[in-house]
Amino acid sequence: MAIKTDSVCRKCRRYGMKLYLKGQKCYTEKCPFEKRPFPPGVHGKSRRFARVSDYAVRFFEKQKLKNYYFMREEQFRRFFEMAQKAKGNTGTKLLELLERRLDNVVFRSGFALSRRNARILVSHGHVKVNGIKTDIPSYIVDVGDEVEIEKELLPQNSAAKLPSWIEKIDDAKIKITRLPERQDFDLKINESYIIEFYSR
Ligand code: SF4
Repeated sequence: MAIKTDSVCRKCRRYGMKLYLKGQKCYTEKCPFEKRPFPPGVHGKSRRFARVSDYAVRFFEKQKLKNYYFMREEQFRRFFEMAQKAKGNTGTKLLELLERRLDNVVFRSGFALSRRNARILVSHGHVKVNGIKTDIPSYIVDVGDEVEIEKELLPQNSAAKLPSWIEKIDDAKIKITRLPERQDFDLKINESYIIEFYSR
């Protein structure tokens, strides 16, 4: 099932934070969340102060992260299960695995203006990993991997700030220098709520 794009800004308003789903628009004053930072709908403003249940708090936290990476529930759940099986803290591992997705790396590297655009570029075969065309957006990159995009597809006005675990080789090529850590993750999220949500 395709994810509807006309309602993505409503997600930011519903979950009470900017999820940066619309590329350049997210960094301008046209961002609807900047103008209306309360839930959508007729009673949205009053709902901002409504008390929410413990379940809703945990559900919303999961939804924020899932939408931030533009993922469907089954895909997100699969990443959660991979994190559970891995050694170490499940929440930290989940964030690490999500950051290592190829579509996220393409976005973080400034090769696309949004994760959605990055996913399209990957699935249409415009991205190579270590010189090999890789069209799986959920492909998980590793330390030492080199990711490149066709030069003519580079965006004009990328606002991306390269994270410290990614090194620029040239305008259209980067290298993963280390695995992303908790402090590299820039969305305010309580991952323990997500673990509690799936463990209920
Ligand atoms: Fe829309 Fe981006 Fe603003 Fe969210 S942050 S409301 S996706 S423009």
